[in-house]
Amino acid sequence: MVNQDDPPIFTVAPTADGDEGSDLDPDLNLPVFQSPPKPIGAPSPPPLFRTLKVYAFGPSRGKARGNIQSLAVPYEKLAPGPVGERIAVVDYDLSRKCFYDPVDLDDLHIAINGGLDPSESDPHFHQQMAYAVVSESLRRIELALGRTVRQRSPAGTKSLKILVHPHFAETTNAFTSESHINCGYFRAATNAPGRVLPGQTVFTCLSQDVVGHMVTHVVLNAVRPDLGRSLDNWTLLEALSDLTPLLFHFTNREIVFDTIQRTAGVIYRSQLSGSAGSVSQARIVAELESDNPLLALSGEFGEAIGRVGGIRNALLAPDSAAFEAEREHHARAAIVVAAVFDAMFSIYEQRTADLFRIYRAGGGRIDGPDLPEPLAGRLCDEVAAIATRFFTMCWRGVDHCPPVEVPVSDFLRGCITADYEYEKEDRWGVRDALMQAFRVRGITPKSAAFFSEEALRWPIAAADWPVLNPERLTDDALPELQAFVDASKEQLGLGRRARPTIYPLQTASFTSPNDLPQVSLSTQILTTPRTGMTVIFDAAGRVRHAIPTSKDAARKEPGF
Ligand SMILES: [Zn+2]
Repeated sequence: MVNQDDPPIFTVAPTADGDEGSDLDPDLNLPVFQSPPKPIGAPSPPPLFRTLKVYAFGPSRGKARGNIQSLAVPYEKLAPGPVGERIAVVDYDLSRKCFYDPVDLDDLHIAINGGLDPSESDPHFHQQMAYAVVSESLRRIELALGRTVRQRSPAGTKSLKILVHPHFAETTNAFTSESHINCGYFRAATNAPGRVLPGQTVFTCLSQDVVGHMVTHVVLNAVRPDLGRSLDNWTLLEALSDLTPLLFHFTNREIVFDTIQRTAGVIYRSQLSGSAGSVSQARIVAELESDNPLLALSGEFGEAIGRVGGIRNALLAPDSAAFEAEREHHARAAIVVAAVFDAMFSIYEQRTADLFRIYRAGGGRIDGPDLPEPLAGRLCDEVAAIATRFFTMCWRGVDHCPPVEVPVSDFLRGCITADYEYEKEDRWGVRDALMQAFRVRGITPKSAAFFSEEALRWPIAAADWPVLNPERLTDDALPELQAFVDASKEQLGLGRRARPTIYPLQTASFTSPNDLPQVSLSTQILTTPRTGMTVIFDAAGRVRHAIPTSKDAARKEPGF
């Protein structure tokens, strides 16, 4: 018989068996009804995610709609810093030669609050935001690449460790060196326009765009260490580093919703309407037109150095001669970014035209910011899905680029090939839109005979390549790749005594749009210091593509 003072303690909820028992007439004064027992200490499973608050665009936008964002980053136990498995925030200030007290995100009060509330003046919040944005950027990039990013070298791979310094020094810049992300802080220019106060301190670590840009630098350096420092490679690096945070903007539902409503669905308009018809009619700030935050890269950083509309903007009118003539890598990257956004907004137009048609057919009028909520919600879903598709295509395109030297037109070929491998049908017309957007900007591959999708896709490899046995691969597969290279000397154009440089194998796993598992393995094999092939294998270890460094690119002088 159970002792009334010491009843058993269960860890599972009861199952009703339909027997409601006899009349209940309990003595509610018994000790069992007065206080719960001591817990038996059954461990609860760790959460999958940790929520942390960040600024979507920067402190100067304050509590404007969508600016305070809660990022759900992968959960890990954190030491003060925060310091986790792959990301460590070390807050040393080179200018003031001091540390800032490290935040403990595992502190109960902070964790219960979903992270610290945003504050421009609290270094703890700066550390939290730097950690959260690095973690989230890395997660999305890894989702696109279909694998965990590791630091590669011909000697093998090692785990990628990113060190973030949120207040690295007083400098109008943020930069990376190897896997360190160094964020500066500085005084805004005395002629700073917009919301930034002239002369105020601006922290680059409080810009998602800046931090996301830096993460891209670190990741590209880790996954493609074979790439040299040429103008084309820098262009690609900067373009991808701008595209990564810019495409994130379109997944921030609150801000996209607001933009859709204020542009009546034309989300690529550079100005958002205010409620006043013109500037002269506006009586309060809320009535004024404002910049479209989705299109500007780091609006606050741009304003602080005296530039309206961010340091760079996603949209530029097409000019077929500009890319070839431009020699500055950021300006060239801006043209590539504009091409990707041109394609993305074209797809958005195509995919949402029917929604607008249905809305109008039902008697709906589009007259200022009055799109009904269900329509705005559907448009948000479309934008997020299209942005994610382009994000994924750009990152998988990197795996399909030749080694050492990547002309931007070869990056286009990489994207087209990667997207074809992902979804052969291209029901959205993504590849055609991308090709046309690059073409009108004068970016066309010299290595392809025609400007058609079939011609731009890297050809399928001939059947005479040896097969890599995927069943028994070691971690980096370097011994197996060496055996593969020895057996493929003819296909690789290698002499008998050649000693090529081989990079570790990377295995990517995806789920295709029709829910089929896809696996692809890739590596770079350098036959000379300036030339080589990116070899892509299918799941069975057969060579799918062998993508050579283009002859033009290989002749170019290194050391840009
Ligand atoms: Zn950069």
